[in-house]
Amino acid sequence: MGLLQLILPKRCYACEHILMPGEFNLCTGCRHSLPVITPKKLQYYFHQIDFSIAHINALDILLLFEKNNRSQKLMHRLKYREYKHLGNILGNIQLPRIIELHKASKIDLIIPIPIHKRRLKSRGYNQLDAYANVFSEALKAPVRNDILIKKELHERLAKLNFILRKETIKNTFELCNKAELQNKHILLLDDILTTGATLNEVINNLNTIKNCKISVACMAFTKPWD
Ligand SMILES: [Zn+2]
Repeated sequence: MGLLQLILPKRCYACEHILMPGEFNLCTGCRHSLPVITPKKLQYYFHQIDFSIAHINALDILLLFEKNNRSQKLMHRLKYREYKHLGNILGNIQLPRIIELHKASKIDLIIPIPIHKRRLKSRGYNQLDAYANVFSEALKAPVRNDILIKKELHERLAKLNFILRKETIKNTFELCNKAELQNKHILLLDDILTTGATLNEVINNLNTIKNCKISVACMAFTKPWD
């Protein structure tokens, strides 16, 4: 154990316990008991929120975000600058699933759901940056932040119900460089899927492009009825 680890011991991001030698970022207990979602469970949740994946090639969500569980802690911390690399940890845990899902269908571009430039300025980063870089490196596909633009700043969707979310998010994104998207397979990234309002809005935009295939990866799903 290094001297720095004795003075300033590194703690698990999910449970705060001091990490043992050989443990990085998450303790072994947390790593093995993250609330990972199975595809079957995800299908059930999508049915509950009436979220259609009819226009998507493939979709994967890693964690179930619930009050007071490990994923809540991780997702909340991601919003703070000193934890922005957490996206890297989650991306690496999810990576084998994403590689398996896309082994027969190459991803051309990676597009993280953008935040408004004013919010980007105050936070200093998009919480999806580190997550996007993991997939970009592994799938050899560039991250493009210049294609999907959040043109309007609105109140946070977390406070709104399903109908209001849909209304609020409507027409808040803009697609640039559309010609570059033709005949491309895009991996869209988002942090938390709740009602699917944001993703639906972006997918509707992308569906106007000729021959554009869309896949999605999210860090977590949270049940809007909780
Ligand atoms: Zn832990």
